[in-house]
Amino acid sequence: MTQATLGFGAMRLPQTDDNDPSSIDMEEFTRMVDYFMEQGFNYFDTSYAYHEETSEGALKKALVERYPRKSYQIANKIPTWLLKDSKDNDKLVDIMLERLGIEYFDVLLIHNINKALLPKAENANSFEYIKRAKEEGKALKVGISFHEKEELLEEVFEKYGDVIDVALIQLNFMDWTDQRIQSKKIHKLCVKYGVEIQVMEPIKGGTLASVSENVKKQFMDYSDNSIADWALRFAGSQENVTVVLSGMSNLQQMKENCETFKDFEKITAQDHKFLMKMAREIKKTFAIECSFCNYCLKDCEMNIPIPDMFNLYNSEKLYHLPSNVDLYNTAANVYAPASACSECGTCVEICTQQLDIPALLKDVAELFGR
Ligand code: SF4
Ligand code: SF4
Repeated sequence: MTQATLGFGAMRLPQTDDNDPSSIDMEEFTRMVDYFMEQGFNYFDTSYAYHEETSEGALKKALVERYPRKSYQIANKIPTWLLKDSKDNDKLVDIMLERLGIEYFDVLLIHNINKALLPKAENANSFEYIKRAKEEGKALKVGISFHEKEELLEEVFEKYGDVIDVALIQLNFMDWTDQRIQSKKIHKLCVKYGVEIQVMEPIKGGTLASVSENVKKQFMDYSDNSIADWALRFAGSQENVTVVLSGMSNLQQMKENCETFKDFEKITAQDHKFLMKMAREIKKTFAIECSFCNYCLKDCEMNIPIPDMFNLYNSEKLYHLPSNVDLYNTAANVYAPASACSECGTCVEICTQQLDIPALLKDVAELFGR
């Protein structure tokens, strides 16, 4: 079986302004690209949407214009939510190729297949499109990124299994037996259909890196490895997994992740058992399991900064800091408080973690009093 490698997810790149996703810090990003390549890694993952549509352009400058095309691999994703008819596939893919300054993708995925977006992809004939894109040499491999439950994936594989080479799925030890994310079941289905697996959210958007002291101690008692190292190794140890993407934001994080994959050690059955126990303990302390992907942000009619609100709620539940209240009030004044939610439900359709966002915002509003 192929050894899983580390992929550089260009979705949480360093920024010069924390409040402006398009302000990618090109100096730091270029240093990270160079370090990554020097260490023998070469897989990059981006999308039309990341960093307010500037991630591809940043990769062009830091990677494409500085390295020979054959020395790296790039995966990109068609923004399914923008597809109105079949002509849009070509239009969007041409824009994606141009933004990156390349002639072909190593991997081309239909982005964020879920209940709401599968019909859009089907109406636009996107599965036929990616098949043709591969035949025409626009992509070496094609597939989907997936954010839904097992039944929908089975439906997609039944219909389009012959087209799909790769599935990018959420897989981490926290979600392995989770009822909503269903990492284990989804992984099993990919193996059954012989689909190559790429992993996103192996450290659950950083959530797993900030756990309680009690949990940290149990990890330390078990081994010297960091929690992030365990999370990456858990993902990389699963059958059919070829790439584990990490949305790295700084060089230090990158150095640690590269170390894990340079001398990759698979987890043992005993490690697996330990990690399942830790997942249960961590879940007790995290009130809302948001992965901070920010997908829900752009379509909220009330302009509520949903992931920030959930982050503050979790932090307040865990640590009771006065600064949480200050931060909440600032966010509520600049954007809108959690109580402004109109329960329109748009975000629920989009949420990659299938959270009941309006109900959770009520809890947030209650905790912070507005
Ligand atoms: S349900 Fe509430 S939080 Fe979600 S999009 Fe509508 S107003 Fe925004
Ligand atoms: S609420 Fe859902 S869509 Fe929004 S950031 Fe969290 S996980 Fe992502």
